[in-house]
Amino acid sequence: MAIPAPPISSLSFPKLNTDTPKTHTTHSPYPLSLLPKCTSLKELKQIQAHAIKSHLQNGFILIKLINFCTLNPTASFMDHARHLFDQIPHPDILLFNHMARGYARTSTPIQAVALFSQIRCFSLVPDDYTFPSLLKACAASEALEEGKQLHCLAIKQSQSDNIYVYPTLISMYTGCSDMDSARRVFDRILEPCVVTYNSIITGYARCSQPNEALSLFRELQASDLKPTDVTMLSIISSCALLGALDLGKWIHDYVRQNGFDQYVKVNTALIDMYAKCGSLDDAVSVFECMAFRDTPAWSAMIMAYAIHGHGHKAISMFEEMRRARVQPDEITILGYLYACSHAGLVEEGCRCFYSMRNIYGIIPRMKHYGCMVDMLGRAGRLVDAYHFIEELPIKPTAILWRTLLSACSSHGNLELGNRVMERIFELDDSHGGDYVIFSNMCARVGRWEDVNYIRKLMKTKGVTKVPGCSSVEVNNVVHEFFSGDGTHIEYRKLHQAVDDLFEKLKLGGYVPDTFLVSHADMKDVEKEATLRYHSEKLAIAFGLLNTPPGTTIRVVKNIRICGDCHCAAKLISAIFKRQIILRDVQRFHHFRDGNCSCGDYW
Ligand code: ZN
Ligand code: ZN
Repeated sequence: MAIPAPPISSLSFPKLNTDTPKTHTTHSPYPLSLLPKCTSLKELKQIQAHAIKSHLQNGFILIKLINFCTLNPTASFMDHARHLFDQIPHPDILLFNHMARGYARTSTPIQAVALFSQIRCFSLVPDDYTFPSLLKACAASEALEEGKQLHCLAIKQSQSDNIYVYPTLISMYTGCSDMDSARRVFDRILEPCVVTYNSIITGYARCSQPNEALSLFRELQASDLKPTDVTMLSIISSCALLGALDLGKWIHDYVRQNGFDQYVKVNTALIDMYAKCGSLDDAVSVFECMAFRDTPAWSAMIMAYAIHGHGHKAISMFEEMRRARVQPDEITILGYLYACSHAGLVEEGCRCFYSMRNIYGIIPRMKHYGCMVDMLGRAGRLVDAYHFIEELPIKPTAILWRTLLSACSSHGNLELGNRVMERIFELDDSHGGDYVIFSNMCARVGRWEDVNYIRKLMKTKGVTKVPGCSSVEVNNVVHEFFSGDGTHIEYRKLHQAVDDLFEKLKLGGYVPDTFLVSHADMKDVEKEATLRYHSEKLAIAFGLLNTPPGTTIRVVKNIRICGDCHCAAKLISAIFKRQIILRDVQRFHHFRDGNCSCGDYW
């Protein structure tokens, strides 16, 4: 296409800030030749102005400009792309795909779906690229309804079985946490490829369904397909969720044998997995064997020390990272704050928090604020924590107040607890745990009227508490127990074992903390029975019964360990000469010789 252009000197076209040699610019008659050098929207608009002034703006140029904007999809580039797009009377599907690709990389990917529904009147037929981009946009925005509508459309247009479409259909459902629908799509596929397996396995791992992820991994291994590094990342994180160390070690062997240990991400996942399975030594040895360590790898190691209560080691690891000239990110700082919080290093934590913006240029997020509240609260600086939340530059969440409520409960400050409870209720009154904590606080000081009032309130609001669930790994099988559980096949034997255990513990000086059971009308014997069958006690007893003497018992609990179970676990570790490693929702507790690594500070 030969487009005559006036000599460049006759145009009032501002010179672009590029390094292009002058001769090249001078002899370039065509405005788009400058496009690859364009670095800002302002420059793009100058190019467009040049085209308009030269009477060169046509559909072809608009498409080129749109394409350029969607390759650099900042919000302002995408706004401009949309402005240009709206000037095209009959956009084709290719042009729409460009727009969708651009939106998919912005913070508002759902705009791709909105645009698609607007332009459907142009009788566009989606191609191999259209559905994947739109479904990815739905996944990223957790837009399940729109995703389902696209699924319907894909079926109507016989595209749902397209090799490019079904993995993204699965990803859309997993992204929206609808694992049942994702599985239905997966089960319809006759010969799933490894990408499809990865989509569903990643989904299960992301939605905290590690057993399903692992069973699909076994299915994948039995097929002719080869797992990829993506598969391994999900499998390792599933293992971390289960806290199953033996399984984790087996997977580590598999990683080594199949050469996946060359991937930094896989090694980082292994550090995280070992830390969460309670084996800090293994986490350290993976870290030390890594030839190259990036920011996530260092952060994983710092977090590993943090959750095991080694505050000083986490801090020295951070300093080593700085000496290695690796830049910390927000997750590194989170690990550092977490370490300080769980080791009572308040001054170090505060210093880090106040320098994160100034020195490292990292803007604090809600999780960082949460760590600060947790740290101040644990250290008993409840009023400081209260003022810290009140003075935040952003609106605090219920979770933040909830953190302070736990601290008020640990330090027995009912008055402040009451004020915090009011703040929580202003934001969210549907969380059963809050009622339970506050009710226990009232019970401790004998305020039974308040306890009864809270219980009634829970009933009228239909709030239930999350049942305590603990799991223990025995012979590569993970066994789950719920508080007061009668579902496990060996429960009768188990209840008997727990009863025997209690007799031995009592001889060892154990006194059940019946204050933790806030029922005024319950006799002490009944309260003791409620405490006795807490899920973590059942899991520990099951471990004691089914593992050889002297071996470590590893337990994972879904919520925070209660004071009574903590006390019992310490005694069990001394009486039975067993190390017990318990991971609760907050951190690790290593019980050994009657003590816990948390120093009763959790
Ligand atoms: Zn308990
Ligand atoms: Zn502990």
